[in-house]
Formats: sequence, C-alpha cells, structure tokens
Amino acid sequence: LSNKLQEAVRKLKGKGRVTEKDVKEMMREIKLALLEADVNFKVVKDFIAKVSERAVGQDVLESLTPGQQVIKIVHEELINLMGPGQSKLVFAPKPPTVYMMVGLQGSGKTTTSGKLANLLRKQGKKPLLVACDVYRPAAIKQLQVVGGQLGVDVFSMGDKTNPIDIAKAAIEHAKSKQYDLVIIDTAGRLHIDEALMDELKNIKESVRPTEILLVVDSMTGQDAVNVSETFNEKLGIDGVILTKLDGDTRGGAALSVKTVTGKPIKFIGMGEKLNDLEPFFPDRMASRILGMGDVLSLIEKAQEAFDEKKALELERKMRTQQFTLEDFLEQMQQIKKMGPLNKILGMIPGINAEALNAINTADSEKELARFEAIIKSMTKQERNDPSIINGSRRKRIAAGSGTKVQDVNKVLKSFEEMKKMMKLMNDLGKHGKKGFGNK
Ligand code: GDP
Ligand code: MG
Repeated sequence: LSNKLQEAVRKLKGKGRVTEKDVKEMMREIKLALLEADVNFKVVKDFIAKVSERAVGQDVLESLTPGQQVIKIVHEELINLMGPGQSKLVFAPKPPTVYMMVGLQGSGKTTTSGKLANLLRKQGKKPLLVACDVYRPAAIKQLQVVGGQLGVDVFSMGDKTNPIDIAKAAIEHAKSKQYDLVIIDTAGRLHIDEALMDELKNIKESVRPTEILLVVDSMTGQDAVNVSETFNEKLGIDGVILTKLDGDTRGGAALSVKTVTGKPIKFIGMGEKLNDLEPFFPDRMASRILGMGDVLSLIEKAQEAFDEKKALELERKMRTQQFTLEDFLEQMQQIKKMGPLNKILGMIPGINAEALNAINTADSEKELARFEAIIKSMTKQERNDPSIINGSRRKRIAAGSGTKVQDVNKVLKSFEEMKKMMKLMNDLGKHGKKGFGNK
C-alpha cells in the first residue's frame, strides 16, 4: 500500500509544512481515483469528507511526517468503510447450519457453493450441497460435477420439483443423515424480478437459513452495489460474497457494499477453481485498493497533467510566439505517453477547445506517429526555424522519415495553422476575451 500512495503524496512530503490547500489537492486526486475505480459516488463523497476533516487536524499538519499521516488516515478510513473487522460466518447452535446462496445468474452462486463446501469441510464440517436451480438448463448437473470433484454429496430432486419442496426435503435429509452443513444453491435471473424474489422469500420462510449469502460479481462495478441494495431490501441478506476479484476488476464494489447495505463482505472469489475462495479482510482490501495500478496511474496522470512548471512554460511560449516544432514534438510525445488525446489535452492549462481542434489536425494516432517521425527527421535548426525548410530539405526529411514530401508539407502547414490560431487567440485574449494566455 503505502509505497505507492507515498508516491502520490511525495509533493506533500517534500514540504516542511503541509497546508490545508495541499491536503485539499490530494483529496481531489484520491476522489478522482476512487470514482474511476467504480466506487459509489455518495460513498466517495462521505469518505473524502471524513478523511479531509481528520487530515487537516492540528496533529497532522504539525506532525513531522504529515504526508504519511494522511496516508494512514486514508487507509484507516478505507478499513472502516469495509469493516472494520473481518466478518465470520455464523453457525447454527443446533445443526444443521443452513446457508442459502442467492444472486443474479452468472454471479458465481454454484461455483461459490462448491468453494464454500470445500473450505468448511476442511474445517471439519460435513456439508450437503442442494440443487435448487431448476430453471437453468444443466444447472443441477453443474452442481453435481462440482460436488463430484470435491467428493461432497449433492441433494437433488430433478428439475420437475418445486425449489421450495426441494429445500425442505434437503433439510430433512441432512438431519437424518447427520450432515451439519447445508448449502442451498438457488436460481438466478439476468435481472432482479418479482418472481425470483418471491421464490427466494418462500425458500427463506420454509427453511429459515442460518445465513443468506448474496453472491455478486465484482466485475459489474456499480451494478454489484445496486444488486446488493435491492436483495437486501427485498429479501434481507446476512453477508456478501464478492466474486471474480481475480479478474481485471477495479474493486470499487468492495468499498461500497458495506456502506450501502450495512451488510459485510464475508468472502471473496479469487478464481474459477474450487479452492479460490478467501475470507475477506478489510485491511488487506484497503491495501489492495490503494496499491492498484489503474488508480495510481490515474493519480500519476493527474499529477503529470498538472505539472505546472511545464504547462506554464508551454503557455508562455505560445503566448510569445516562440513555440517551435521542437515543442510541438515534445508535446506530442508527452501526449502519447498519457493516453486518449482529447481527454488529456483538455487537462493542460492554457489549452482550450479551439486550440484542441487545431492540434487535432492530426486526428488519428497513426497520423500522430507520422508527424512525430517527420519532425524527428528534421535537424534542430530546422525545428527551431521551419522557414529554412526548402524543397531539397523537404525531400531529405521525407526520405528520412519514410514519408512523402506532401506529408512533410502537411506537418509544416498544420504547424503554421496552429501558430496562427495561437496568435489569433492570444490577440483575442489581449482584448479581454477568454482565450490563450488569459487563463
Ligand atoms: P451462477 O449462475 O451464479 O451459479 O454462476 P456460476 O457459479 O455458474 O459461475 C458463472 C461463471 O463465473 C463460471 O464460469 C465460473 O467459473 C465463474 N466464476 C465464479 N466465481 C469466480 C471467481 O471468483 N473468479 C473467476 N475468475 N471466475 C469465477
Ligand atoms: Mg448456478
């Protein structure tokens, strides 16, 4: 965790003192990062408010390591959001313990039922898996295959019996055969609907499960949170199992579920295999989220884009008409490093929409690459003063960059147009209208 976040507060740490403004700026970056990671908007808002309040406290601002203090607060508040502690499964005082697995189709109920049976059997339980999904073709077979792989018994009555009756019969069977754990795999739908909820409610009423565990797919981001909220309202759940966290999910659902539903995440699914189920530890997840590549790269990206010194220098050059092909090239390389063109360019202070369009003359990535090759084939002198680029120089540059003379002409023309545009906007700016150099 902290290594990477420390990177994000490097600026903050470098200073002997930290001001409220520094903290605010950092909070803004964290906020962006969380939103990008698919954390529920309201959760982000409350979170930032809480962290900010603590972070601008006297003891932080006046401490010797304010940056680290801020990280610590962020970490602690993340843990509070999801926990604070680990939430364990509840077992029935009088066996059998009954877990009812619910969730949308494809969320991972059947797989997770198997994983849970596997995990608890290792802890000495004697589990029985119950096939109550009578709708999806081959759902019963799927559970039987899972049970077979694990050597765990599966109770089923085919797909012609009502799921409520199957569940009831399964409990009786478990009692008479000394199973102390019953895991009911129920049906899901693509979307939440009344029929599904009614059936689940009926099963709930007839078997009185020890816990109802909602299985949600973390890959669905905000939807995972909405689904949790609805299931909790309509059915009542005791805990959540978040699946597919091994995939390239941004993990935001993990942060929102507890706040939105008030119910804890108990386990996380980390793969398709039957032992890829782990207890959920809020502190570990907090670390994982803070250390996540895309969240951090976003913070870094924002920092890069707000590299004020460079941006101001660029703006100054544009304003004073000293912008050269060299700068043009440097900008292009910078842009390429950072990702989607229009999104990023818009973040550079001093560049407004009109200028964006001018630069976008090179409106495909390919063209950008060609531009780059052409400018690279120029001498430094040529880059600083394109007016010396005569016919024979153009031929040489074209040959050097593997392009045609027309392409070289196009680059030069674009550059001239851009300069003209800058001048125009600069003049407008001087006359009090909003434009270049007038930010
Ligand atoms: P159900 O419709 O809710 O019963 O979902 P299934 O148990 O049939 O799972 C749907 C798909 O998700 C299957 O291909 C599973 O292998 C996969 N799956 C379930 N949990 C995980 C997980 O934690 N990680 C990954 N990568 N895949 C999972
Ligand atoms: Mg299933």
